[in-house]
Amino acid sequence: NLHLGNYLGAVKRFVELQDANAMCIYCLVDLHAITNWQDPKELRQNTIEVTAAFLACGLRQENSIIFNQSQVPTHTELAWIFNCVTRMGWLNRMTQFKDKAGKDKENASSGLFIYPNLMAADILVYKATHVPVGNDQKQHLELTRDIAARINHHFGAVFTLPEPYIRKRGARIMSLQDPDKKMSKSDPNHNSYIGLTDQDSIIKKKIMKAVTDSQASVVSDSSRPGIRNLIDLYQLLSHDSIDAIERRYQHSSYKPFKEDLADLLINFLSPIREKFHAIRDDHTELTRIITSGNEYAQARAQTTLDRLKDKTGFAL
Ligand code: AMP
Repeated sequence: NLHLGNYLGAVKRFVELQDANAMCIYCLVDLHAITNWQDPKELRQNTIEVTAAFLACGLRQENSIIFNQSQVPTHTELAWIFNCVTRMGWLNRMTQFKDKAGKDKENASSGLFIYPNLMAADILVYKATHVPVGNDQKQHLELTRDIAARINHHFGAVFTLPEPYIRKRGARIMSLQDPDKKMSKSDPNHNSYIGLTDQDSIIKKKIMKAVTDSQASVVSDSSRPGIRNLIDLYQLLSHDSIDAIERRYQHSSYKPFKEDLADLLINFLSPIREKFHAIRDDHTELTRIITSGNEYAQARAQTTLDRLKDKTGFAL
């Protein structure tokens, strides 16, 4: 169930890195997904659908490894070691937990609290040098580096310190209904996000309803988060400069600007949606891709874990 924020913040960069011939490993993170209570049938289906969405967005099995986190148990084994390395104070600083748990902290799963440790394992186990993520994950990347540095300091060099690979502008796509919050699939208001497989008419409706302000001028200004977010989207899709966009709409109200933005989005997303629908039901092929990714990932991950176990005193 990927949305436009996932695409622009992360998946677009996955494809760019792949196309620049980087050695890329991408993970279907179903273990992270269960930090919120899951419907088993839906979870299984979502793993398959996210694989189809990755392929529809341009990842290719010949060029990238795509695998399923829960099928590579090394991740959870390493995450346990990290649970014992990360300090409570480090995790207490994580703003994502505060955002996601909100006022209902006591009812949040402990998995939601420690999930950055599993994310660190996802990254460090492959000695990743760069991690293409949205701006919201920057803090978790810093935690990952802290974990790696602490282990390297105490037990000798085991891990590579990864760099976040984050675009400057539009790294955080905001909600269309509350532009002070990031676009998120867990938002109960479905008008707040654009799904990668939304129908054209839905895309148009969501953009036309997007919250702006009463100034009615198409100008990108940090004190006007609604219109700024829409201009960012326009810029990322059209590749025009912000100045050129502001000039184009300087004498117009929001309506024509939003109509053009909706058209840009529709033109951009409809081929992705068509490709997604063409491959989504081919479970045999999707399962084959995931299984071959799992085998590769498991072999690489085990080498790192064995080295760490040796250094930290586990009898192998
Ligand atoms: P999540 O949807 O939280 O599982 O995030 C998956 C990936 O999408 C991560 O790399 C996030 O940084 C990125 N991402 C999620 N939401 C946004 C957003 N609103 N803007 C930019 N990137 C995002």
